[in-house]
Amino acid sequence: MTTASQPRNVLLVTAHPEPSSLTAALSSFAVDHLRAAGHRVRVSDLYAMKWRAVLDADDFPDHPADHRLEILSAQGEATRAGRLSPDIAAEQEKLLWSDAVILQFPLWWFSVPAILKGWIDRVFTFEFAHGPSVPPPYTEGALAGRRALLATTTGAGGPAFSDRGAHGRLADVLHPLQHGLFWFTGLAPLEPFAVHGAKDLSAHAFAAAREEYGRRLDGLFTDEPIPYRTLNGGDYDRSMRLLPGIEPEGTAGLDIHLRSR
Ligand SMILES: Cc1cc2nc3c(=O)[nH]c(=O)nc-3n(C[C@H](O)[C@H](O)[C@H](O)COP(=O)(O)OP(=O)(O)OC[C@H]3O[C@@H](n4cnc5c(N)ncnc54)[C@H](O)[C@@H]3O)c2cc1C
Repeated sequence: MTTASQPRNVLLVTAHPEPSSLTAALSSFAVDHLRAAGHRVRVSDLYAMKWRAVLDADDFPDHPADHRLEILSAQGEATRAGRLSPDIAAEQEKLLWSDAVILQFPLWWFSVPAILKGWIDRVFTFEFAHGPSVPPPYTEGALAGRRALLATTTGAGGPAFSDRGAHGRLADVLHPLQHGLFWFTGLAPLEPFAVHGAKDLSAHAFAAAREEYGRRLDGLFTDEPIPYRTLNGGDYDRSMRLLPGIEPEGTAGLDIHLRSR
């Protein structure tokens, strides 16, 4: 059973080419679970949408074909003028609508499938997700006030992603998304939800995964986000380098993240 809480808006972005995949099953479970709890859910099913993964000049309808493409300035101008391509604008509208964002994906080569990377590249535009017109990164961030959850499946087992695992700690593998995407743009990242050993999952393990996922979804708006450091929290110098004596998050002999306030 889900716990009663204030209805909120949740955007679920899911990326798998097979509609009967484990990823798709977990996405459906999440949608049903969140709606049963009273939340409003919108889904961006990237393969079903035939999402165009590659950022190029077509993202900017006003860009003259014979001009050199300066990506950040083209993104910034198109964003400010409301002249991004309609598929990007639609996803940005969903992000602004949301109180929480969930990315559901199989771990491919220690990262997201290319179609989801393309969603990030194209949707988190300059002057929308970062840039001088929006609040600064790692402090407030353009998308502040929203939560973010990575929900992933991995072929390898959990121990391989532990502190002494061959693949490295899951927190390190997902750091580019948790810190570089979410925290940079102001989204408050929760601890990720991962189903390990997912290449061949028994019915029992699938049921256990759903149960755990349900618990995590129940905590979407109440669990404590990862307390990453803020740029203005006194830990960094002006060149964005940690001050002497302050250890990088998670490596100070403590397997936790620290934020000084
Ligand atoms: C290109 C590529 C790169 C990869 N890189 C990595 C990597 O870097 N690290 C790593 O650890 N792994 C990696 N993998 C493995 C990958 O992460 C897993 O195969 C994937 O996470 C499994 O999720 P899926 O949704 O594709 O599962 P599926 O293949 O759809 O299903 C996996 C299993 O889940 C069960 N299942 C599926 N659907 C259901 C359902 N509806 N109900 C109940 N049970 C179901 C079945 O037992 C099935 O065998 C990679 C795979 C690929 C293709």
